Amino acid sequence: MAQDKSYYTATAHPCPARPPLQGDEICDVCVVGAGYSGLSTALHLAEQGYKVIVLEAVTVGFGASGRNGGQIINGYSRDFDTILSRYGEDMANDLLAMSFEGGDIIRTLIEKYKIDCDLRPGSFFAALNKKQMQELEKRKDAWEKAGNKELELYSRERMPEVVDSKLYCGGLLDRRGGHIHALNLALGEAAALESLGGKIFEQSRVLRIDKGEKPVAFTDHGKVTAACMVLCGNAYLGDVVPELAEKIMSVSSQIVTTEILGAELTKKMIPNNFCIEDCNFLLDYYRITADHRLLFGGGVIYSGDTPADITRRLQPHVLKTFPYLKGKKMEFAWSGNFALTLTRMPHIGRLSDTVYFIQGDSGHGVTTCHLLGRLVAEAIGQQVSRFDVFATMREFPFPGGRMFRVPLTALGAWYYGMREILGV
Ligand SMILES: Cc1cc2nc3c(=O)[nH]c(=O)nc-3n(C[C@H](O)[C@H](O)[C@H](O)COP(=O)(O)OP(=O)(O)OC[C@H]3O[C@@H](n4cnc5c(N)ncnc54)[C@H](O)[C@@H]3O)c2cc1C
Repeated sequence: MAQDKSYYTATAHPCPARPPLQGDEICDVCVVGAGYSGLSTALHLAEQGYKVIVLEAVTVGFGASGRNGGQIINGYSRDFDTILSRYGEDMANDLLAMSFEGGDIIRTLIEKYKIDCDLRPGSFFAALNKKQMQELEKRKDAWEKAGNKELELYSRERMPEVVDSKLYCGGLLDRRGGHIHALNLALGEAAALESLGGKIFEQSRVLRIDKGEKPVAFTDHGKVTAACMVLCGNAYLGDVVPELAEKIMSVSSQIVTTEILGAELTKKMIPNNFCIEDCNFLLDYYRITADHRLLFGGGVIYSGDTPADITRRLQPHVLKTFPYLKGKKMEFAWSGNFALTLTRMPHIGRLSDTVYFIQGDSGHGVTTCHLLGRLVAEAIGQQVSRFDVFATMREFPFPGGRMFRVPLTALGAWYYGMREILGV
């Protein structure tokens, strides 16, 4: 078993080598980071005729976008009640109304640009206890009011239709969710951007930016001067912009993938091939890949570190869910980082009149990052009303400064984890 080798890189479609930036370039919009946030922003702009350049520190999809569980999950990392009490009814309704758009964007892009990324419909939230089931009933009501009518509650008796596991007492199916090969989606979006004349430079880390009227991004061997810039480095941006770094914490999550299990066994495990995530604070999430493996993720590390042995960490969760997989090999195990915010809502806005940013997906970003890219593109095109719904939400630095913010956040998570174990 290869530690930190991803199923996605092993099964990615071939793509052209993209050269590093050499010398000076000028464009309408310079996007920093080729994950879903950057690619969605760039694609929406290129479709409107903007000349776009994307600068990527490593390769397209190197970050969370090429490493995630591939689950197209609607909603945010916060439940609707919390959003309602924190932001009030009007804003909460606006946020909820937009929360199903990201999935629609993904499906439209796949269709329009013929992106081959194993799209399958249906995401399922699995409840481990009565309290979680009641939360799902509330979620269904709130989401239906916001226009998602493709939801269905499942009782304990119906759970064998969804998953062959004894863990769950019911759940909620969202037919507007689904799953994809995460990296092939990013690679397909990059190719779509290039088909519209957009340029992507890989191995081109932005080392510093100048936020002047015409912002400039500097790499080792060149610079891009643009009318606008959008920073989409998320958990991988580091300290390029300290005022952004203090508002997020880089958090890692891990995934393992089994050997090929075959069509018969995987159909028994998840008969309708939905992706599944449980409702715990530190959740498990899993799905079947196109070549009939179980791809299973879970757990977080608040420092953003990669554990020494990912399989050892995740295998007990896999076997608790599917005890009969004992003895099956784990062929891939890897880690990726997402950016957590204190509010657990995404963080977008402007650093100046011409420099925008997207970050802080809080681990729930396959759909959200696609939406946020569209909203930033709208704002650059002078339509700011939807962008402002997010941009006016206040985000705060993590308490404890550099030294104590990781242990303080881990303590908070431990508290919520204990409450779940104790059922309070
Ligand atoms: C293991 C894991 C599993 C997950 N599973 C799910 C899931 O199933 N469903 C879901 O909804 N969400 C999931 N998420 C979250 C989701 O993957 C992220 O929300 C989303 O991919 C973030 O996209 P992004 O474009 O904002 O950031 P990223 O994909 O991280 O992209 C940022 C890019 O910017 C580049 N970059 C950084 N700094 C610079 C620089 N200075 N110069 C140039 N380039 C730079 C990086 O190299 C990187 O390619 C998961 C995350 C992880 C880590």
